Amino acid sequence: MSVLVLVEHTDGNIKKKSFEAVQYAAEIAKKTNTTATALVLGTIADSELENLGTHGVQKVLHVADEKLNELHARAYASALIAAAQKEGSKIIIALHDINGKAVAPRVAVKLKAGLVSGALSYPDLDKGFVLKKAVFSGKAFAFVNITSDVKVITLMANSFPLAPGSGKASIERLDVTFGDKDFGIKVKSVDKVTGEVSLADAELVVSGGRGMKGPENWGLIEDLAKELGAATACSRPVADAGWRPHHEHVGQTGGTIRPNLYIAVGISGAIQHLAGVNGSKVIVVINKDPEAPFFKAANYGVVGDAMEILPKLTEAVKKFKQHK
Ligand SMILES: Cc1cc2nc3c(=O)[nH]c(=O)nc-3n(C[C@H](O)[C@H](O)[C@H](O)COP(=O)(O)OP(=O)(O)OC[C@H]3O[C@@H](n4cnc5c(N)ncnc54)[C@H](O)[C@@H]3O)c2cc1C
Repeated sequence: MSVLVLVEHTDGNIKKKSFEAVQYAAEIAKKTNTTATALVLGTIADSELENLGTHGVQKVLHVADEKLNELHARAYASALIAAAQKEGSKIIIALHDINGKAVAPRVAVKLKAGLVSGALSYPDLDKGFVLKKAVFSGKAFAFVNITSDVKVITLMANSFPLAPGSGKASIERLDVTFGDKDFGIKVKSVDKVTGEVSLADAELVVSGGRGMKGPENWGLIEDLAKELGAATACSRPVADAGWRPHHEHVGQTGGTIRPNLYIAVGISGAIQHLAGVNGSKVIVVINKDPEAPFFKAANYGVVGDAMEILPKLTEAVKKFKQHK
């Protein structure tokens, strides 16, 4: 009856947000008097798998098929179902990201399970199995009770701080018989973003909007991000215009992030943009228009020209680091 969690990795390195999901699964296991098991797919070293024990799982099931190094939603779902059946799992957890959103609904349908996508809380067991999630583009919260026997959850990243312990997980290989259609979609090419702080995992993000005027000014955003050790993001029109790559676009139709600090520069704060960032712990807005809607969602605001403020802010961060 183990709580089962799907773990993601990039080229054999477990993603930070997956450690968070593992910790979340382990905490739910504790609350429901059971154990937690992690499922890992594809090529990865045992030493990396053992690490998962430090975040609370007792066991790791590893399906070492190299075809699973790339996302195949049907195959991932088949592996998750096989693992759930092996462990007798009634609670199954994945991340609320591209992979989790593709896999969890398939698993839920196959296992006739209730699904809460984008959970922000542990289940309230006094009220049944009630989870908090954001709705209406983050304008409100819903509290959803899963009443089915099997329950599937996708967890919003950066909802809980990591607190690693010292446990070590045992590793078991799992053989899964895949169906004809499981690898029906052919991945023709993969574009990997390298050498940058990953936006999904970033604790600090500097983001630019149309107020930056053009790609030639992005050095100002990058300089500040580099000084802070932050990832860079942007509003949708900026990505649509080709000023920045699409993986940086956040909002309703882009990525959803929950960093500790989100610095929005020259972004008006449209509801569709806020939908992707309003879970950030602290929001700083830099905008020359004091009436820009983003100021209403900000913890701190600077009214002024980004072209003047950004170099000064970068310089101030540099000086602050020197005197630390
Ligand atoms: C269905 C749908 C989905 C959408 N999804 C998304 C989404 O996922 N993400 C998203 O971002 N948008 C999304 N949008 C678009 C959204 O509605 C806004 O149009 C968009 O967010 C505006 O981007 P912006 O703030 O960069 O540009 P603008 O609205 O043009 O704002 C630019 C801001 O920069 C300020 N500014 C100008 N010059 C300076 C300066 N020198 N210094 C400082 N500030 C300056 C201005 O005062 C202004 O507030 C969506 C829209 C629709 C209809």
